[in-house]
Amino acid sequence: MAQRIGLGFDVHRLVTGRPCRLGGIELPHPSGPQGHSDGDAVLHAVTDALLGALALGDIGTHFPDKDPRWKDADSRLFVRHAIESVQKRGWTLANLDVVIATEGPRIAPHAEAMRGSMAELLGCSPEQVSVKGKTFEGLGALAGGAGVAVQAVCLLEKSPDG
Ligand code: MG
Repeated sequence: MAQRIGLGFDVHRLVTGRPCRLGGIELPHPSGPQGHSDGDAVLHAVTDALLGALALGDIGTHFPDKDPRWKDADSRLFVRHAIESVQKRGWTLANLDVVIATEGPRIAPHAEAMRGSMAELLGCSPEQVSVKGKTFEGLGALAGGAGVAVQAVCLLEKSPDG
């Protein structure tokens, strides 16, 4: 069994009045991620992890933020593109692990919904998708809910005859 690991990272500022879309769902919170697209930093990090595992570039090369087509785009589209690129090459997702660091919305109460939403997008079981929330312990520029930082790591597998 061949295996590849991918790592994704993203940061977005949280601004008042933006829908708080993270992990493909909308959280009840007065601020949300700023961005050219819907700003879903979780799905952006997941997209980069999937693309990175096969060295297929990154979200910026596939979906430039200068391109008006991606203005306010639903970020689920980016993940679908990435998982399709992976599957087209004969690879399957073994698991995905995501850390969401923010002092904006609380993540824990929504972690299950995010796992379900991302599993559906990726065509896998929620058991293959992990979501963990973290704070910054009040330190640094993202303390106090000014932003969200996300890390995602994925493992891909391919059978020898695949
Ligand atoms: Mg982003």
